[in-house]
Amino acid sequence: MQVNEKRVLIVGGGLGGLRTAEALRANGFIGEIAIVGDEEYQPYNRPPLSKEALSSGLSHDELKFRQRDSVADVTWILGSAVEKLDTDKREVTLANGTTQKFDALVVATGIRPRLLPIPGPTQGLHTLRTIDDARSLKEAIKPGSNVVIIGSGFIGCELAATATKLGATVHVVSLDDQPMIMPMGADLGGAMRRRHEEKGVTFHLGRTVSQFNGETHIDSVTLDSGETLPADVVVEAIGSVPNTEWLKDNGLNLDNGVLVDSNMRAVGSTLPIYAVGDASNHPNKLYGDKTRRIEHWNMPTETGKRAGAALAAELAGSQLPTDEFFALPAFWSDQYEFKLQSYGLPGAASTNTVVSGDLDGPCIVEYFNSDNELCGVIGIDTVKELMPYRKQFMEMK
Ligand SMILES: Cc1cc2nc3c(=O)[nH]c(=O)nc-3n(C[C@H](O)[C@H](O)[C@H](O)COP(=O)(O)OP(=O)(O)OC[C@H]3O[C@@H](n4cnc5c(N)ncnc54)[C@H](O)[C@@H]3O)c2cc1C
Repeated sequence: MQVNEKRVLIVGGGLGGLRTAEALRANGFIGEIAIVGDEEYQPYNRPPLSKEALSSGLSHDELKFRQRDSVADVTWILGSAVEKLDTDKREVTLANGTTQKFDALVVATGIRPRLLPIPGPTQGLHTLRTIDDARSLKEAIKPGSNVVIIGSGFIGCELAATATKLGATVHVVSLDDQPMIMPMGADLGGAMRRRHEEKGVTFHLGRTVSQFNGETHIDSVTLDSGETLPADVVVEAIGSVPNTEWLKDNGLNLDNGVLVDSNMRAVGSTLPIYAVGDASNHPNKLYGDKTRRIEHWNMPTETGKRAGAALAAELAGSQLPTDEFFALPAFWSDQYEFKLQSYGLPGAASTNTVVSGDLDGPCIVEYFNSDNELCGVIGIDTVKELMPYRKQFMEMK
């Protein structure tokens, strides 16, 4: 088969899917690219959904990614999820009953919010992943609303800040000892808690919700301590689940997303199957001998670029890249007027030290692994001052 007769099917119409399509074209692939997405929208930017867009506006036109001319000929198949992969037939089946054939497959299905099995009514219960989720939240949160957020990770804390700005009374319930403790550690997490408390947020740490109360709509929640909190809006933000169920029974390792090699090619697959973005469990020179799934905005682009280059080479019958994959995980978070920025893997650290400022003001915190090597850095309101760290990590390439 000529390369121009080959068809790449990308499942997942988000940032990772788009960047992979662009990278395929940038690396000379001239066959058909089709993208199947369960949402009705072409790829858009998710970070504003918990931040400014929730308070200002949620138009898809404003949030959608600009697309390169090279992908103007992509076939978009939107509004129906892929339910099953059949590697023998080289096809996927969609929820609407149709099938799509492929020569190569890219998994770009991301993650979805994890849900707790809490008894009681579900009206008034929200999660936040999509523009539709954000629209329904925006409609629900009114000045004076009682908002209970379950989970104190980034999304929980960003939502707490935005809901407070919108005039709501916000309670955050979390099993953790401090907000954002996993990625930031207890000291900086505690400092962010104090910032939230000064703005009026109440934390219930070391606690979970055991019951939603109300007739059909939740009107209060009961904590495992027995305390009851009034609730008009409840948001579950307790972590994520990779969207990979549709791939099962095909010999892929799906223990934590799709296990891939340095080219983002699924480990053990005879067919060209690649995985990018939040759903890819990939190696990285920076991770040592571990593979990781990293849910930061820059990783779909980095993994998509690598997958596109490798897949274009595989389809052309050329040598695949042989260098180790290297990408610097980076995230930011806006909460009230505070700007958090991070490089590297602070979540993998054993110790940390404040090297500039103090935790209750602008500051820089360095994070060290068990070998006492710098593995990450987080700054609050020090975006410029953090740039040398970026350079330092990039030099590890
Ligand atoms: C509210 C919010 C705020 C965020 N803020 C930040 C931030 O401040 N900083 C930061 O670094 N990162 C942030 N992120 C994370 C960042 O947005 C993600 O890392 C990024 O969107 C991942 O891209 P992706 O393409 O892998 O997955 P997604 O963007 O999730 O795209 C996957 C797409 O696949 C679709 N899909 C899933 N299953 C199927 C199926 N079976 N068939 C077809 N389609 C399917 C999904 O519906 C989705 O449209 C935030 C995320 C959210 C939700």
